[in-house]
Amino acid sequence: MNITKLTSVKTICNSYLIEEDGFVVIIDPGQDGVVEAEIDSKGYQPEYILLTHEHFDHVQDLEAVREKYGVPVIASRTCSERLGDPRTNLSIIEDILSYYKTGVVSEEKSPRFVCREAEITYEGEYDLVWRGHSFTFIEAPGHSPGCVLITLDGEYCFTGDYMLSNEEPTLRLRGGNEADYRNITVPILEMIPDGTKICPGHGVSYTKGHETEAE
Ligand SMILES: [Zn+2]
Repeated sequence: MNITKLTSVKTICNSYLIEEDGFVVIIDPGQDGVVEAEIDSKGYQPEYILLTHEHFDHVQDLEAVREKYGVPVIASRTCSERLGDPRTNLSIIEDILSYYKTGVVSEEKSPRFVCREAEITYEGEYDLVWRGHSFTFIEAPGHSPGCVLITLDGEYCFTGDYMLSNEEPTLRLRGGNEADYRNITVPILEMIPDGTKICPGHGVSYTKGHETEAE
């Protein structure tokens, strides 16, 4: 198994490809065509798209990728429902968010967009066995209502906008909820064992318990 991290230029959002025998699972198709470019250059065959949450930077290429390869999308029911509205996927405020982050007014206006609902949805927890590997999904609201944590083989955790290296999660965007974060998600994050490889939606990957050695 190989895991490749691909980073979108515009919002520095990480997408991941998990590859086994030329087949891949995509986590968060991101932006800027980075996922398609990698899949096509390697000749990979996609089988699933998994989503950590509904925000535009993680799903802008979702429709293009699912159309092109004809693969099902797996997302929490809440995430799935919120993909279809620019106010809940936040594409309506992309330029404002980027202005606050960078202080630069973007020359090109970013498009508002919507995505169709996921083919496979779940509430609470969900398990997927894929080519000898096991994915576990668990809902973790706070940053947004549709957030989940995705564990692979008990060894890797794809955390979306949680557990970014040296950064507290943003809880103030539309749909953010500090009480949900403290009451539901923090206890789940605390249960992730030391030694787990943390693969966040932005920034560097690192091993839990060895944060100072982040690469
Ligand atoms: Zn987000």
